[in-house]
Amino acid sequence: MAGYSVDGTRLWSRLMDMAEIGATVNGGSHRLALSQDDEDGRELFLAWCANRGFTVVFDKIGNLFVRRAGRTPAAPAVAIGSHLDTQPMGGRFDGVLGVLAGLEVLETLEDLGVATEAPVEVAVWTNEEGARFQPAMMGSGVHCGVHPLAEALAVADASGIPVAQELERFGYDRGVEPGSHAIGSYLELHIEQGPILEQEGKSIGVVTGGQAIRWYSLDLRGEETHAGPMPMAMRRDPVRHLAAAAELVYRTGTADADARATIGRIETRPGSINAVPGELHLSVDLRHPDESVLEQMHGSLAEGIAQLNDAAEGVEISLEQIWHSPVVHFDAQLAAAVRSSAAARGYAARDMVSGAGHDAFHLAKAVPAAMVFVPCRGGISHNAQEFTAPEQAAAGANVLLDVTLQLAGAPAPPGTKA
Ligand SMILES: [Zn+2]
Repeated sequence: MAGYSVDGTRLWSRLMDMAEIGATVNGGSHRLALSQDDEDGRELFLAWCANRGFTVVFDKIGNLFVRRAGRTPAAPAVAIGSHLDTQPMGGRFDGVLGVLAGLEVLETLEDLGVATEAPVEVAVWTNEEGARFQPAMMGSGVHCGVHPLAEALAVADASGIPVAQELERFGYDRGVEPGSHAIGSYLELHIEQGPILEQEGKSIGVVTGGQAIRWYSLDLRGEETHAGPMPMAMRRDPVRHLAAAAELVYRTGTADADARATIGRIETRPGSINAVPGELHLSVDLRHPDESVLEQMHGSLAEGIAQLNDAAEGVEISLEQIWHSPVVHFDAQLAAAVRSSAAARGYAARDMVSGAGHDAFHLAKAVPAAMVFVPCRGGISHNAQEFTAPEQAAAGANVLLDVTLQLAGAPAPPGTKA
């Protein structure tokens, strides 16, 4: 099977060139979704694609589909995708690796003159990160019909600029209807964003699915007053209950070794040094690979918060679930194809469940989908220090190449047994 290989040097130099757009002083990249830097990154990518004669289709939410034609034009495309937008002051590989490895697969097929039956495409999904516009995974969600287009277009960033205005600025409003560009199957390569592959000395993660995620807003409301004159006993200070609330969240997150709980945001209002805050707002993110365990975590957190509220005199404590992403199962046959490609190439691999959300989660509901992980140094991501070695990036791209050839229908490489 391992007859063809990607050009790892070309892939690496493209990664480094892309990182120059929105480059940060500490070696990362800053390309917020639908910003000028994001658009510049897309233009660079499209210039590389045009150089090889690949064609592009875009839709009204700004998703790009770059196609290398197959022998059977009507055959559903095999799509390889990810995202080019980054976290604020983010890294060089999150998302970018998946897109540029997809391009590397197309270029490798072109270099070798390999004709596939089905077309092979690279998909670039708009606003995966959700840093500037929420929700995350917006473009793939609209493509898959999870979010209505009109709803996504109306979302505004912190300065009030709506998604629609930025899409128009770059001409994406002239695109095709989201979802009308059909995909037959979907593959995504991504850095692991966790430490497991590196710790175990593995090169390839065969991603069998994704964790279930629930997001909450945890709100504590009391009364705003002056920090001096008001005696402690008479205050309705929500921050007094912060430690107990946080303790509850962390207890929920240590239900077992697979459970996760995060308080990513803590906000007091008005947020003044000499005022007892009237409000305290926390974000809570709970995750577990087993849907029923997450359900139990949800139950015990909700119960604990209700008890805390009953006991807190003068302060109202409430928990509201704002998002639920159920457990995702990737296609078993595609995962098996990833596993056997790694084995054939001698890459040490292991099965794993994704701890982070990805565009592939949406795609998996619509078409057979799979993900491939490669290690990242120290498990660090969403950080300028994010790093995966050139040979690891190439290994991931080679696995994509193998599975793509299998899905798209290609003749066996010369000198190999079919
Ligand atoms: Zn990503």
